[in-house]
Amino acid sequence: MIVIDGSQGEGGGQILRSALALSLVTGEPFRIEKIRAGRKKSGLMRQHLTAVHAATVIGQARVEGAVIGSQELCFAPAGVKAGSYHFSVGTAGSCTLVLQTVLPALLTAASPSELVLEGGTHNPHAPPFDFVARAYLPLINRMGPKVVATLQRPGFYPAGGGKCSFAIEPAPRLARLDLPERGTICKRSARAVVAKLPRQIAERELQVVRDQLSWEEAALSIEDAGSSLGPGNILSLEIESDHVTELFTGFGERGVSAEKVAGKTVMELKEYLVANVPVGPYLADQLLLPMALAGGGTFRTLAPTLHLTTNSEVLQQFLPVAVNMRQLTRNDWEIRVESRR
Ligand code: ATP
Repeated sequence: MIVIDGSQGEGGGQILRSALALSLVTGEPFRIEKIRAGRKKSGLMRQHLTAVHAATVIGQARVEGAVIGSQELCFAPAGVKAGSYHFSVGTAGSCTLVLQTVLPALLTAASPSELVLEGGTHNPHAPPFDFVARAYLPLINRMGPKVVATLQRPGFYPAGGGKCSFAIEPAPRLARLDLPERGTICKRSARAVVAKLPRQIAERELQVVRDQLSWEEAALSIEDAGSSLGPGNILSLEIESDHVTELFTGFGERGVSAEKVAGKTVMELKEYLVANVPVGPYLADQLLLPMALAGGGTFRTLAPTLHLTTNSEVLQQFLPVAVNMRQLTRNDWEIRVESRR
């Protein structure tokens, strides 16, 4: 049985989610120890348990240790079952992290699936729904499957209560993906979203975008996400290029000024633009697994994050692939996923 050290590298929830995803796809059982040992409150939390539950149902798996606070888990799948599923995180825990766990298996399943997920759709430290729909899924779709994402209701931290769905048309196998260049930038947009909060917050965020990026007025918009259960605010900066769309998200937070939220997001975006690479830091760690399943792929990105290097270690425990990371210039790296078969 594959044994995963949950304390390696980043030491967070990603190790568990990647292991579950890889176990579902390969059919290999695994045991994970020291779950989230790198986090202040280690062990399984509610949102991780939802991911475990989703993987258990979809993979008809036998599981031991799936309780709150657990530091160890054994997972043995018995075959992926496509179908219609509804999972609710129950708290504001992220829906998209549950998606991250089960999507890879459903991409190459025998028949289509429909996933309805409830919880947080725009959480700090997780892929926001818009990032999944605009940046991540178009690349997955380029690999063969067709996934359509729909946001029914946004859910922000801490109230949650969001709802989104994913219609998944699988492909027999994933095609490799190569993203060496960004190409020409075709479109830029800045969207400031407020839910049950003063519109002025969004206006102040967009003022920072005006001041620091000098984008044309038509590229800036404000959205009132009134259907959300609780209050929330995000600033979403999108760069659509010939070969890839990237999204950088700032999350409004009590006690943090709108200017600070926007300033930090603009800084992340500028780092990406200056480096002239196609893939940003979040997309980088998320693309690794589908590329490994496809048996190969390459992309250029910023200096590897701990999430990227940790994910690379975990997937090499399940799949016969090698991940090579080569620095080209200061903040420009080439990541190469190659089959070892
Ligand atoms: P833990 O619960 O242990 O703190 P976690 O379950 O929150 O960990 P991480 O290990 O931090 O998860 O992984 C978060 C995932 O969310 C990573 O795949 C990362 O790329 C993605 N992510 C985080 N922030 C963003 C963002 N702003 N845009 C897109 N993706 C993001």
